Amino acid sequence: MIIDLRSDTVTKPTKEMLEAMFGAEVGDDIFDEDPTVIKLQQKVAKILNKEAAIYTPSGTMANQMAIKLHTQPGDEVICDITSHIYNFEGGGISFNSGASVKLIYGDNGRVKANQVLESINPHNIHAANSSLVSLENTSNKGGGSCYDIADIKEIAAVCKNNNLKFHLDGARLFNAVVKKGYSASEIGNLFDSVSICLSKGLGAPIGSVLAGTSEFITRAKRYRKLFGGAMRQAGYLAAAGIYALDNHIPRLKEDHENAQALVNMLQKQSYVEEILPTETNIVIFRLSKSIKDEDFMNQLNQMNVKVIGFGPQVIRMVTHLDFKTEMLEEVEKALAKIN
Ligand SMILES: *Cc1c(COP(=O)(O)O)cnc(C)c1O
Repeated sequence: MIIDLRSDTVTKPTKEMLEAMFGAEVGDDIFDEDPTVIKLQQKVAKILNKEAAIYTPSGTMANQMAIKLHTQPGDEVICDITSHIYNFEGGGISFNSGASVKLIYGDNGRVKANQVLESINPHNIHAANSSLVSLENTSNKGGGSCYDIADIKEIAAVCKNNNLKFHLDGARLFNAVVKKGYSASEIGNLFDSVSICLSKGLGAPIGSVLAGTSEFITRAKRYRKLFGGAMRQAGYLAAAGIYALDNHIPRLKEDHENAQALVNMLQKQSYVEEILPTETNIVIFRLSKSIKDEDFMNQLNQMNVKVIGFGPQVIRMVTHLDFKTEMLEEVEKALAKIN
Protein backbone atom coordinates (compact mmCIF):
# COMPACT_ATOMS: atom_id res chain seq x y z
CA MET A 1 0.00 0.00 0.00
CA ILE A 2 1.34 3.39 -1.01
CA ILE A 3 0.31 6.26 1.24
CA ASP A 4 0.46 9.42 -0.83
CA LEU A 5 0.47 12.62 1.20
CA ARG A 6 2.13 14.79 -1.44
CA SER A 7 -1.05 16.58 -2.44
CA ASP A 8 -4.84 16.42 -2.36
CA THR A 9 -4.66 16.31 -6.16
CA VAL A 10 -3.54 12.65 -6.20
CA THR A 11 -7.03 11.22 -5.64
CA LYS A 12 -8.66 8.88 -8.14
CA PRO A 13 -12.39 9.07 -8.90
CA THR A 14 -14.58 6.84 -6.73
CA LYS A 15 -16.81 4.20 -8.32
CA GLU A 16 -19.86 6.43 -7.80
CA MET A 17 -18.07 9.39 -9.37
CA LEU A 18 -17.06 7.26 -12.36
CA GLU A 19 -20.67 6.15 -12.77
CA ALA A 20 -21.78 9.78 -12.79
CA MET A 21 -19.13 10.50 -15.44
CA PHE A 22 -20.10 7.55 -17.65
CA GLY A 23 -23.75 8.57 -17.46
CA ALA A 24 -23.18 12.22 -18.36
CA GLU A 25 -25.14 13.85 -21.14
CA VAL A 26 -22.65 15.70 -23.33
CA GLY A 27 -22.35 17.98 -26.34
CA ASP A 28 -19.81 20.31 -27.90
CA ASP A 29 -19.11 22.91 -25.22
CA ILE A 30 -17.46 25.29 -27.68
CA PHE A 31 -20.93 25.50 -29.27
CA ASP A 32 -22.36 25.92 -25.72
CA GLU A 33 -24.08 22.59 -26.23
CA ASP A 34 -22.81 20.51 -23.34
CA PRO A 35 -25.69 20.31 -20.83
CA THR A 36 -23.48 18.89 -18.07
CA VAL A 37 -20.89 21.66 -18.35
CA ILE A 38 -23.71 24.21 -18.32
CA LYS A 39 -25.21 22.55 -15.25
CA LEU A 40 -21.86 22.60 -13.42
CA GLN A 41 -21.29 26.25 -14.26
CA GLN A 42 -24.77 27.25 -13.07
CA LYS A 43 -24.34 25.19 -9.92
CA VAL A 44 -21.04 26.84 -9.00
CA ALA A 45 -22.40 30.31 -9.80
CA LYS A 46 -25.30 29.63 -7.43
CA ILE A 47 -23.06 28.25 -4.66
CA LEU A 48 -20.89 31.40 -4.84
CA ASN A 49 -23.86 33.73 -5.40
CA LYS A 50 -22.41 34.95 -8.70
CA GLU A 51 -24.27 35.61 -11.95
CA ALA A 52 -22.23 33.18 -14.03
CA ALA A 53 -19.30 30.78 -14.07
CA ILE A 54 -16.96 29.10 -16.55
CA TYR A 55 -15.43 25.61 -16.42
CA THR A 56 -11.65 25.45 -16.93
CA PRO A 57 -9.16 22.57 -17.21
CA SER A 58 -7.08 23.86 -14.27
CA GLY A 59 -7.09 26.25 -11.35
CA THR A 60 -4.07 27.96 -12.80
CA MET A 61 -6.02 28.78 -15.93
CA ALA A 62 -9.00 30.05 -13.91
CA ASN A 63 -6.74 32.37 -11.88
CA GLN A 64 -4.78 33.53 -14.92
CA MET A 65 -7.97 34.32 -16.84
CA ALA A 66 -9.19 36.39 -13.87
CA ILE A 67 -5.89 38.29 -13.63
CA LYS A 68 -5.94 38.95 -17.37
CA LEU A 69 -9.50 40.28 -17.19
CA HIS A 70 -8.93 42.47 -14.15
CA THR A 71 -5.68 44.11 -15.31
CA GLN A 72 -4.02 45.94 -18.19
CA PRO A 73 -0.34 45.41 -19.14
CA GLY A 74 1.82 47.46 -16.74
CA ASP A 75 -0.67 47.20 -13.89
CA GLU A 76 0.25 45.79 -10.50
CA VAL A 77 -1.37 42.90 -8.65
CA ILE A 78 -1.30 42.97 -4.85
CA CYS A 79 -1.00 39.57 -3.14
CA ASP A 80 0.73 37.72 -0.32
CA ILE A 81 4.31 36.51 -0.89
CA THR A 82 3.20 32.88 -0.53
CA SER A 83 0.46 33.17 -3.19
CA HIS A 84 -0.05 30.36 -5.67
CA ILE A 85 -0.62 32.96 -8.41
CA TYR A 86 2.90 34.29 -7.75
CA ASN A 87 4.84 31.13 -6.83
CA PHE A 88 3.25 28.25 -8.69
CA GLU A 89 1.74 29.53 -11.93
CA GLY A 90 4.89 29.73 -14.01
CA GLY A 91 5.25 33.49 -13.83
CA GLY A 92 1.86 33.78 -15.50
CA ILE A 93 1.08 37.19 -14.02
CA SER A 94 3.82 38.70 -16.16
CA PHE A 95 3.65 36.21 -19.05
CA ASN A 96 -0.08 36.34 -19.63
CA SER A 97 -1.04 39.76 -18.35
CA GLY A 98 2.18 41.81 -18.51
CA ALA A 99 1.50 42.85 -14.94
CA SER A 100 3.87 43.20 -11.99
CA VAL A 101 3.23 42.24 -8.39
CA LYS A 102 3.40 43.93 -5.01
CA LEU A 103 4.07 41.25 -2.44
CA ILE A 104 2.77 41.45 1.11
CA TYR A 105 4.46 39.62 3.99
CA GLY A 106 1.29 38.31 5.59
CA ASP A 107 0.49 35.89 8.37
CA ASN A 108 0.92 32.40 6.89
CA GLY A 109 -0.60 33.50 3.60
CA ARG A 110 -3.22 35.87 5.03
CA VAL A 111 -2.98 39.61 4.55
CA LYS A 112 -4.66 42.44 6.47
CA ALA A 113 -6.61 45.41 5.15
CA ASN A 114 -3.97 47.91 6.33
CA GLN A 115 -1.26 45.96 4.49
CA VAL A 116 -3.32 46.08 1.32
CA LEU A 117 -3.91 49.80 1.77
CA GLU A 118 -0.17 50.42 2.23
CA SER A 119 0.57 48.41 -0.92
CA ILE A 120 -1.49 50.58 -3.24
CA ASN A 121 0.77 52.70 -5.42
CA PRO A 122 0.36 56.49 -5.55
CA HIS A 123 -1.41 57.82 -8.62
CA ASN A 124 1.47 59.36 -10.52
CA ILE A 125 3.40 58.72 -13.71
CA HIS A 126 6.21 56.88 -11.88
CA ALA A 127 4.28 54.07 -10.28
CA ALA A 128 2.57 51.03 -11.75
CA ASN A 129 -1.21 51.22 -11.59
CA SER A 130 -2.46 49.05 -8.73
CA SER A 131 -5.56 47.38 -10.11
CA LEU A 132 -6.14 44.01 -8.48
CA VAL A 133 -5.97 42.42 -5.04
CA SER A 134 -5.91 38.62 -4.93
CA LEU A 135 -6.43 36.53 -1.78
CA GLU A 136 -6.03 32.78 -1.29
CA ASN A 137 -8.43 30.92 1.02
CA THR A 138 -7.29 28.47 2.24
CA SER A 139 -3.65 29.40 1.72
CA ASN A 140 -1.58 26.53 0.32
CA LYS A 141 1.94 27.68 1.28
CA GLY A 142 0.50 29.13 4.48
CA GLY A 143 -0.32 25.59 5.66
CA GLY A 144 -4.01 25.60 4.78
CA SER A 145 -4.72 28.70 6.86
CA CYS A 146 -8.20 30.24 6.59
CA TYR A 147 -9.35 33.84 6.55
CA ASP A 148 -11.79 35.23 9.10
CA ILE A 149 -14.68 36.70 7.17
CA ALA A 150 -14.33 40.01 9.05
CA ASP A 151 -10.81 40.42 7.63
CA ILE A 152 -12.02 39.74 4.08
CA LYS A 153 -14.78 42.33 4.55
CA GLU A 154 -12.23 44.96 5.59
CA ILE A 155 -10.07 44.19 2.56
CA ALA A 156 -13.14 44.29 0.30
CA ALA A 157 -13.86 47.80 1.63
CA VAL A 158 -10.29 48.91 0.86
CA CYS A 159 -10.67 47.56 -2.68
CA LYS A 160 -13.97 49.33 -3.16
CA ASN A 161 -12.70 52.67 -1.83
CA ASN A 162 -9.62 52.50 -4.05
CA ASN A 163 -11.17 51.17 -7.22
CA LEU A 164 -9.33 47.85 -7.09
CA LYS A 165 -10.72 44.59 -8.39
CA PHE A 166 -10.85 41.78 -5.85
CA HIS A 167 -10.17 38.13 -6.78
CA LEU A 168 -10.23 35.01 -4.62
CA ASP A 169 -8.09 31.99 -5.41
CA GLY A 170 -10.47 29.59 -3.72
CA ALA A 171 -8.75 26.39 -4.85
CA ARG A 172 -9.59 25.06 -1.36
CA LEU A 173 -12.46 27.41 -0.48
CA PHE A 174 -14.63 24.52 0.71
CA ASN A 175 -11.98 23.49 3.25
CA ALA A 176 -12.28 27.02 4.68
CA VAL A 177 -16.09 26.85 4.54
CA VAL A 178 -16.13 23.56 6.47
CA LYS A 179 -13.58 24.83 8.99
CA LYS A 180 -14.91 28.33 9.59
CA GLY A 181 -18.63 27.79 9.26
CA TYR A 182 -19.24 30.63 6.80
CA SER A 183 -20.99 29.86 3.53
CA ALA A 184 -19.42 29.90 0.08
CA SER A 185 -22.02 32.47 -1.00
CA GLU A 186 -21.13 34.85 1.86
CA ILE A 187 -17.53 34.67 0.68
CA GLY A 188 -18.49 34.93 -2.99
CA ASN A 189 -20.44 38.12 -2.28
CA LEU A 190 -17.27 39.89 -1.18
CA PHE A 191 -15.26 39.30 -4.37
CA ASP A 192 -15.47 40.36 -8.03
CA SER A 193 -14.32 36.89 -9.06
CA VAL A 194 -13.70 33.55 -7.39
CA SER A 195 -11.91 30.44 -8.67
CA ILE A 196 -12.47 27.01 -7.12
CA CYS A 197 -10.75 23.69 -7.77
CA LEU A 198 -12.75 20.50 -8.17
CA SER A 199 -9.57 18.43 -8.38
CA LYS A 200 -8.23 19.09 -4.87
CA GLY A 201 -10.04 17.95 -1.73
CA LEU A 202 -13.29 17.54 -3.63
CA GLY A 203 -11.75 14.58 -5.43
CA ALA A 204 -12.63 15.20 -9.10
CA PRO A 205 -9.91 14.09 -11.54
CA ILE A 206 -9.78 17.38 -13.44
CA GLY A 207 -11.26 20.82 -13.45
CA SER A 208 -11.78 24.22 -11.89
CA VAL A 209 -14.43 26.91 -12.18
CA LEU A 210 -14.17 30.70 -12.32
CA ALA A 211 -17.23 32.72 -11.25
CA GLY A 212 -18.17 36.39 -11.59
CA THR A 213 -20.66 38.71 -13.28
CA SER A 214 -22.24 37.60 -16.57
CA GLU A 215 -20.30 40.27 -18.40
CA PHE A 216 -17.02 39.11 -16.81
CA ILE A 217 -17.66 35.46 -17.67
CA THR A 218 -18.56 36.34 -21.27
CA ARG A 219 -15.16 38.05 -21.56
CA ALA A 220 -13.50 35.13 -19.72
CA LYS A 221 -14.67 32.74 -22.40
CA ARG A 222 -12.48 34.52 -24.93
CA TYR A 223 -9.38 34.05 -22.76
CA ARG A 224 -10.17 30.41 -22.04
CA LYS A 225 -10.11 29.86 -25.81
CA LEU A 226 -6.99 31.98 -26.25
CA PHE A 227 -5.17 30.13 -23.42
CA GLY A 228 -6.06 26.81 -25.07
CA GLY A 229 -8.58 25.69 -22.49
CA ALA A 230 -11.81 25.53 -24.49
CA MET A 231 -12.95 21.91 -24.54
CA ARG A 232 -15.49 19.85 -26.46
CA GLN A 233 -17.47 17.01 -24.74
CA ALA A 234 -16.15 18.14 -21.37
CA GLY A 235 -19.39 17.10 -19.69
CA TYR A 236 -17.80 13.75 -18.87
CA LEU A 237 -15.39 15.67 -16.64
CA ALA A 238 -17.90 18.25 -15.45
CA ALA A 239 -20.08 15.37 -14.19
CA ALA A 240 -17.29 14.46 -11.79
CA GLY A 241 -17.30 18.05 -10.53
CA ILE A 242 -21.06 18.03 -9.99
CA TYR A 243 -20.78 14.72 -8.15
CA ALA A 244 -17.96 16.11 -5.99
CA LEU A 245 -19.92 19.25 -5.06
CA ASP A 246 -22.97 17.16 -4.17
CA ASN A 247 -21.16 14.54 -2.15
CA HIS A 248 -17.67 15.47 -1.06
CA ILE A 249 -17.92 18.75 0.82
CA PRO A 250 -18.94 17.68 4.36
CA ARG A 251 -16.32 14.90 4.41
CA LEU A 252 -13.52 17.47 4.19
CA LYS A 253 -13.89 17.55 7.98
CA GLU A 254 -12.33 14.05 8.06
CA ASP A 255 -9.33 15.34 6.12
CA HIS A 256 -8.92 18.11 8.69
CA GLU A 257 -9.10 15.62 11.57
CA ASN A 258 -6.54 13.36 9.88
CA ALA A 259 -4.23 16.35 9.35
CA GLN A 260 -4.53 17.15 13.06
CA ALA A 261 -3.61 13.55 13.87
CA LEU A 262 -0.51 13.91 11.69
CA VAL A 263 0.42 17.08 13.57
CA ASN A 264 0.15 15.21 16.87
CA MET A 265 2.54 12.53 15.54
CA LEU A 266 5.01 15.04 14.18
CA GLN A 267 5.11 16.93 17.48
CA LYS A 268 6.58 13.81 19.08
CA GLN A 269 9.46 13.51 16.60
CA SER A 270 12.80 15.00 17.67
CA TYR A 271 13.73 15.82 14.06
CA VAL A 272 10.72 18.13 13.62
CA GLU A 273 11.68 21.67 14.51
CA GLU A 274 8.52 23.61 13.75
CA ILE A 275 5.02 22.93 12.45
CA LEU A 276 2.86 25.67 10.93
CA PRO A 277 -0.52 26.11 12.62
CA THR A 278 -2.72 23.47 10.95
CA GLU A 279 -6.32 24.52 10.43
CA THR A 280 -7.41 22.34 7.52
CA ASN A 281 -5.86 19.54 5.42
CA ILE A 282 -2.31 20.85 4.88
CA VAL A 283 0.53 20.14 7.29
CA ILE A 284 3.77 22.04 6.72
CA PHE A 285 6.75 21.47 8.97
CA ARG A 286 10.46 22.21 9.14
CA LEU A 287 13.07 19.57 9.84
CA SER A 288 15.92 20.17 12.27
CA LYS A 289 19.54 20.02 11.09
CA SER A 290 19.74 16.42 12.34
CA ILE A 291 18.32 15.14 9.03
CA LYS A 292 18.53 16.38 5.41
CA ASP A 293 15.17 16.89 3.74
CA GLU A 294 16.18 14.59 0.86
CA ASP A 295 17.11 11.81 3.31
CA PHE A 296 13.86 12.25 5.19
CA MET A 297 11.81 11.99 2.02
CA ASN A 298 13.81 9.02 0.71
CA GLN A 299 13.46 7.10 3.96
CA LEU A 300 9.71 7.69 4.05
CA ASN A 301 9.44 6.76 0.39
CA GLN A 302 11.15 3.42 1.10
CA MET A 303 8.43 2.81 3.68
CA ASN A 304 5.80 3.62 1.02
CA VAL A 305 4.90 7.03 2.44
CA LYS A 306 5.18 9.88 -0.03
CA VAL A 307 5.51 13.51 1.06
CA ILE A 308 6.69 16.59 -0.81
CA GLY A 309 9.46 19.14 -0.25
CA PHE A 310 8.17 22.69 0.15
CA GLY A 311 11.40 24.67 0.48
CA PRO A 312 14.76 24.02 2.18
CA GLN A 313 14.15 21.58 5.07
CA VAL A 314 10.42 22.21 4.71
CA ILE A 315 8.01 19.31 4.10
CA ARG A 316 4.32 19.31 3.20
CA MET A 317 1.76 16.60 3.86
CA VAL A 318 -1.80 16.92 2.56
CA THR A 319 -4.75 14.73 3.57
CA HIS A 320 -7.49 13.86 1.09
CA LEU A 321 -10.25 11.50 -0.02
CA ASP A 322 -7.87 8.60 -0.66
CA PHE A 323 -6.02 9.00 2.65
CA LYS A 324 -8.01 6.76 4.96
CA THR A 325 -7.96 7.04 8.75
CA GLU A 326 -6.49 3.51 8.92
CA MET A 327 -3.37 4.81 7.18
CA LEU A 328 -2.51 7.04 10.15
CA GLU A 329 -1.06 4.09 12.01
CA GLU A 330 1.25 3.22 9.09
CA VAL A 331 2.46 6.81 8.88
CA GLU A 332 3.11 6.85 12.63
CA LYS A 333 5.23 3.70 12.36
CA ALA A 334 7.18 5.15 9.45
CA LEU A 335 7.83 8.46 11.23
CA ALA A 336 9.11 6.59 14.28
CA LYS A 337 11.63 4.66 12.15
CA ILE A 338 13.27 7.74 10.63
CA ASN A 339 16.89 8.11 11.65
C1 LIG B 1 -3.76 23.80 -6.78
C2 LIG B 1 -3.94 25.24 -6.64
C3 LIG B 1 -4.35 26.03 -7.72
C4 LIG B 1 -4.60 25.49 -9.11
O1 LIG B 1 -3.76 24.51 -9.49
P1 LIG B 1 -3.94 23.63 -10.82
O2 LIG B 1 -3.01 22.53 -10.56
O3 LIG B 1 -3.60 24.50 -11.94
O4 LIG B 1 -5.38 23.19 -10.88
C5 LIG B 1 -4.55 27.36 -7.50
N1 LIG B 1 -4.36 27.89 -6.29
C6 LIG B 1 -3.99 27.18 -5.23
C7 LIG B 1 -3.85 27.84 -3.91
C8 LIG B 1 -3.76 25.83 -5.35
O5 LIG B 1 -3.38 25.12 -4.30
